[in-house]
Amino acid sequence: SERTLVLIKPDGVKRGLVGEVISRIERKGLTIAAMDLRNVERSVAEEHYAEHKEKPFFGELLEFITSGKVVALAVEGPRAIAAFRQLAGGTDPVEKATPGTLRGDFALETQFNLVHGSDAPESAERELKLWFPDL
Ligand code: ATP
Repeated sequence: SERTLVLIKPDGVKRGLVGEVISRIERKGLTIAAMDLRNVERSVAEEHYAEHKEKPFFGELLEFITSGKVVALAVEGPRAIAAFRQLAGGTDPVEKATPGTLRGDFALETQFNLVHGSDAPESAERELKLWFPDL
């Protein structure tokens, strides 16, 4: 069994899609090991997205992720990292995510793509330590 960090980003919380996201995680058979609705400190956002520091959208990304509450979840199960990324769909909600995925069903713009999920075991470990240091 494996753990992954999932974030329901401010767009998802504002639009009332927290239940929808959690429901799909549970229906897939994954389990929730920890969950927290919280404001994101700028330092946490910078650390979380450190790999995108040089990207042109980094500033916007930080503004967005700190613009409202997020729901952070530690999600657990066999191949949880890949399983959640399958539920999420591709980064671009129109060009990459297909219908039936969270982004394919509920998002239109790459910046406002509803959820985050760790993309590899190393990033899952790093991100879980950042968001849930006591887990
Ligand atoms: P996440 O890391 O949030 O799960 P991802 O792994 O699918 O997303 P990344 O390429 O790591 O995608 O990008 C991280 C986040 O940065 C995206 O989810 C999106 O919110 C934002 N982002 C990526 N590309 C762009 C872009 N071209 N313009 C605006 N925002 C972007």
